[in-house]
Amino acid sequence: AMPALHLLGTGAAISDAHRTTTMLAVSDDASPSNTLVVDCGGDVLQRLQACGRAIDDVDGLLVTHAHMDHTSGFPLFMEKIWLDGRDRPIPVCGIEPALAQVRRTWDAFAPVHEGWEDIPPINWHKVPHEQGARLWTQAPWTVTVTPVDHGDTANVGLRVEHADADGVLAYSCDTAPTSSVVDLAEGADVLVHEANGVGDGHSTAAGAAEVAAEAGVDRLLLVHLPPGDKSNALREARQVFPHTDLGEELGTYGW
Ligand SMILES: [Zn+2]
Repeated sequence: AMPALHLLGTGAAISDAHRTTTMLAVSDDASPSNTLVVDCGGDVLQRLQACGRAIDDVDGLLVTHAHMDHTSGFPLFMEKIWLDGRDRPIPVCGIEPALAQVRRTWDAFAPVHEGWEDIPPINWHKVPHEQGARLWTQAPWTVTVTPVDHGDTANVGLRVEHADADGVLAYSCDTAPTSSVVDLAEGADVLVHEANGVGDGHSTAAGAAEVAAEAGVDRLLLVHLPPGDKSNALREARQVFPHTDLGEELGTYGW
C-alpha cells in the first residue's frame, strides 16, 4: 500500500492565477475507490480528475469549516456525482457548524434539484469538536480531528493514518500557529500547513515552520497561499525548518 496525498488546490480564498482554493485528497493505488476528499471550496472533482483519479473513486467527503473557500462547491460536487451515475450514498463528515453550512448550500439549490431522480443519498456524519474525535474509520483510513485556532470560526485539523502503511499525514487547515497542531502532527511524515500570512486565525510561513519543527515532522508543505511572490516567506520558513516547500498545485506526494 502506498498512500498518496494530492494537493487539489493550494491557494488562499484569493491567490495566484494557477492556484485554486485549498482542497486535498488522499488515495491508495491498491484501492483507488477508497479516495477521500477534504473540502470543496471550488470544483474539487475536476481537480481530483486532474490528479488522475475518477469521480467514482470518492469514498467520502470531509469538510473542515464553514468558510466559502472550503464549502461553496458542494452543490456542484453533488451535481457531478449524480451525473456520473453514483447510486451508493455519499458520506459527508465534519463538525456540526461545517456540516450545517454545507447543508445550507445544498438546500439553497432545492428548487433546482427537487425534481432530480436518484440523487445519491447524503450520509451526514457529525463528529464532536474535540481532540481525537474520529472523522473517518473505514479502511484503509483513520482520520482524527483536533480543534485549531481560526479566529471566531470553529475549525479542525486532520491526522490521517493508513492501515497498512506506517506513514502519517497531518493537515493544519486554516489556523494560527497552535500547540494543538503540534500535537496533531507529532512525528508525522508530512505536515500540510496553511501559510496565509499575518492575520487573525492564520499563520505566516515561518509560523508554520515553527509548528513543523516542534512536532518533529519529516516534511512541511505550505498551502492556503496568498497572491504574489512567496520567495521571502519560503526562505524565512526554511531558516526555521529546512525541509519546507510551497505546496505544488495538483502535486501528488507519497507519505
Ligand atoms: Zn477559513
